[in-house]
Amino acid sequence: MSKTIFEKIIAREIPSQIVFEDDKVCAFRDINAQAPTHVLIVPKKPITRIGEAAPEDHQLLGHLILKAAAVAKQLNLDGGYRLVINNGPDGGETVPHLHCHILGGRHMTWPPG
Ligand code: 5GP
Repeated sequence: MSKTIFEKIIAREIPSQIVFEDDKVCAFRDINAQAPTHVLIVPKKPITRIGEAAPEDHQLLGHLILKAAAVAKQLNLDGGYRLVINNGPDGGETVPHLHCHILGGRHMTWPPG
């Protein structure tokens, strides 16, 4: 299996601005920011998408979301932020490696486009 773009970022095979990393997750700035702060947080385990996560990923997924909140705090998104997980074509997913978008630094509208 070839590596996903995000596996290559985690392995430092392609450059990115990493803002947080531990043994289970990595957070880096999105290359095409949709908000003043736009960070992706990904599990190092290459789960394809949330719809394909397995029951044994339960702890890892909890860790991912808790660390997303910790990264938002680290980045001083005190006015609020949005976490987004796109799943499949209709969800707008373009990279088949589970990731959570952390968007902040501006007021978010609802419904999303
Ligand atoms: P999706 O559309 O799958 O939810 O989000 C994928 C995100 O990955 C997009 O926001 C896109 O800008 C970002 N992205 C794609 N390729 C790269 C890359 O090589 N580096 C970084 N930092 N972000 C990327």
